[in-house]
Amino acid sequence: MPRKPTNKSLKAKAWRLFSEYIRLSSADSDGIVECYTCGSRGKWKGDGFQAGHIIPGRGGYVLFNESIVRVQCGGCNVLAGGRYEISIPKWIRENSLEEYEEHVRESKKPFKRTMTDYLDLIAYYEMRLDGLRSAAQRETEESDTSL
Ligand SMILES: [Zn+2]
Repeated sequence: MPRKPTNKSLKAKAWRLFSEYIRLSSADSDGIVECYTCGSRGKWKGDGFQAGHIIPGRGGYVLFNESIVRVQCGGCNVLAGGRYEISIPKWIRENSLEEYEEHVRESKKPFKRTMTDYLDLIAYYEMRLDGLRSAAQRETEESDTSL
């Protein structure tokens, strides 16, 4: 019998899908992504690329917030502790200091998710991943001249 889902297992599943979505949606047509902080390139899956946060802490507000998440290599995200000295100024240049400060303020407020919230996130990112995959599929079919 499958184990009953827990808050923790649903959160882990939602994170896996979210991270896949971030990487796949950032990949070019060959499936290549680029690290936000060092520029190294590789396959979106299998080359150790991750979804890295621009605000430290992985709190509830931050964790699944696409606007403050970027693709990073494992070296920058984990070994180098996130490379915030690069990612934060870069993000602010691309967006604005006001927006960054707003995210930081929000990230300090209490934020809790229920199992239903995680189930919603799972359904949402499964749907968006399906959308990305079928778009990629159509592209492949269209470029196949033997049809
Ligand atoms: Zn990197």
